[in-house]
Amino acid sequence: MRYFELAVLRDPDAGEWSGEYRAEHKWCLPSIRCPRCETWGGMQAYPSVDLTDLPANDALNDIRPQPPEEYARREALVRPFVPPERLLEPGCRLGPLVGTARGHFGPVTVWPSWQVLVREDARDLLLSEGLQGIIPVRAELRTRRTKQQALYELEARPLAKLHPACIYDREPTCPVCGRHGFTLPPKRWLQGESIPQGLDLFGVEETTRIVVSERFVDTVNRLGPSDVFYREITAE
Ligand SMILES: [Zn+2]
Repeated sequence: MRYFELAVLRDPDAGEWSGEYRAEHKWCLPSIRCPRCETWGGMQAYPSVDLTDLPANDALNDIRPQPPEEYARREALVRPFVPPERLLEPGCRLGPLVGTARGHFGPVTVWPSWQVLVREDARDLLLSEGLQGIIPVRAELRTRRTKQQALYELEARPLAKLHPACIYDREPTCPVCGRHGFTLPPKRWLQGESIPQGLDLFGVEETTRIVVSERFVDTVNRLGPSDVFYREITAE
């Protein structure tokens, strides 16, 4: 199976579609102000997490940096609502996208490159064709169009890993906040054994990248063009 990273078009004006949206996820963990290293937050999103029943959820829509103690307090609030194997980190977004949309959307919309939305007909096709790892969450986007199809964000769980040989500047792990970042290498490939077998969409640990299978690309292309750049990523 071949795999492709999702990316935005290099020239946004070259696209076929006029659709645009402005939206944020309903909840988030704050970014962290670490006294030892720096202020940071990631871009991971779990739109399928529902915090509606969490009484203290109003503290969870402020992403501004917090000291480690306050970050830990809010993470502990969220933990019971997130499966234990799912990594939570500073800046993590939770719940559906909420906002506004305008224009016409193609089958797949990638904006920014770590957020992927599909039109309702694309969602239906992916599911009816039996693709695996497709977790659609309806985006709550207000629009003036009455005939606009709904858009669904696809949750990309970080399951695959970059191959260690392509990471050239990993920092030592911070003893306070656990950060051990690196620069996304321009030339990169996946660690073959880390690829979740049979899944057609997944994230790549410690990066903002979302990877889809060749089968995903072939399936959505049956609905016509999307303004998405598919960059092949190999594995070793
Ligand atoms: Zn730190």
